[in-house]
Amino acid sequence: MEEFDFIKSIQPKYYQQSTTIKGIGDDAAILRHTNEDIITTVDTMVENVHFSTKTTEPFHIGYRALAANISDIAAMGGKPTSYLVSIVIPTSWSQESLQQIYNGMQQLARRYRMDLIGGDTVSGKQLSLSITVIGTIRRNKVRYRSSALEDDIVFVTGQLGDSACGLHILLNKDEPICDKYQYFIDRHRMPEPRVNFINECTAIDRISLNDVSDGIANELIEIAEASRKTIVIDYDKVPSHPLLEDFSEEMQFDWKISGGEDFELLGTVSSHNWEQLKISADKTGTAITKIGFVKEDTYKKGIVWMQHNGQRKRLEKSGYTHLRR
Ligand code: ADP
Ligand code: MG
Repeated sequence: MEEFDFIKSIQPKYYQQSTTIKGIGDDAAILRHTNEDIITTVDTMVENVHFSTKTTEPFHIGYRALAANISDIAAMGGKPTSYLVSIVIPTSWSQESLQQIYNGMQQLARRYRMDLIGGDTVSGKQLSLSITVIGTIRRNKVRYRSSALEDDIVFVTGQLGDSACGLHILLNKDEPICDKYQYFIDRHRMPEPRVNFINECTAIDRISLNDVSDGIANELIEIAEASRKTIVIDYDKVPSHPLLEDFSEEMQFDWKISGGEDFELLGTVSSHNWEQLKISADKTGTAITKIGFVKEDTYKKGIVWMQHNGQRKRLEKSGYTHLRR
């Protein structure tokens, strides 16, 4: 199939956003926004670096890549509206597999009424998928990671460790791929960015926010450093699926604290806004859990402590932890 035919096959029949003036089909796309700020982000996924076709079907490569991008928009408090896809295609890839990548992206995009407005197609040795998401964001409701304040509550949505557990099951032939654990595999393949929840929180002026792409150790340190505060969390409060307990304590710890790719939202909010935040969570069917609090940090170093088994451990960026009595 020629590049031209391929582009034609993925071209949307109509656009869902009234702001899309020109999508696919000319030299560039045009969007018309008059009152809102524009938010944009890009992420690239490369075969055998970010995913392997051994564990991931083409459909899920597309789905996950777009989900990761949308999650970044959610972590700023934005609403995704359109996306562009730059793809490097090895000649070994079939037309059907490529179509599946786009189907995966489309399934998620439809949920948010996002338009595919352009991209680029080239051939190369390894499949590489680079997605740019564009969205809108309310001027005074941007959720920076630098806005945590003393005495804030630290919260996280959903459950942690699911995606890492799912990947473990997919990678280890010894683990039975039984129906019982299908939940973890699904969460790995089709993570749900928390767009609806954060867009329901507009009554709250200040939320500091990050999304869980690298694991909460890293994400918490990013908030603590950017806000120049100390964060203290309680390991026993970190929410996880009951079936995660089927695996060793070490695995559970590793998946929950440094597993990542759950694409949950992690942030801090004033205790005065906690009830309001819970209402927004309820309205959007989002689980939300209080896992710690923010302290003033005299040295402004952005330290994160975790209470675990009666001890206080300092969380390190890699997810590796030191013990401190
Ligand atoms: P140009 O030579 O002007 O860059 P292209 O032939 O690369 O044009 O692209 C033609 C149209 O198709 C453009 O609107 C472009 O954004 C879109 N397009 C190209 N490749 C992709 C792709 N992989 N996914 C989505 N849109 C694409
Ligand atoms: Mg081009």
